[in-house]
Amino acid sequence: MPCYFCEKKPREYMTGYWCESCREIKNLCNVYGYDRVLDILKKVCIRNEEQLENKIKNNFKKEKEITDESYIKPKTRSQYNNEDK
Ligand SMILES: [Zn+2]
Repeated sequence: MPCYFCEKKPREYMTGYWCESCREIKNLCNVYGYDRVLDILKKVCIRNEEQLENKIKNNFKKEKEITDESYIKPKTRSQYNNEDK
């Protein structure tokens, strides 16, 4: 019979309901509180996923900017000199 929580791994004990991992999760929840653990999971996991997406988007943006810049902004020596004045 699989674990009641993950529904994948086999139960740790014949008489128990959870696998080893889920029992540990349950123990952590008992220590920190279920709401707190759920809150942490939501914040950390969902946020990291968003950050990952942002990172991917930013990298695409950067690549595009670098490509655009190399076409638009080849500065010559005279332009640098004018900026100094
Ligand atoms: Zn499990």
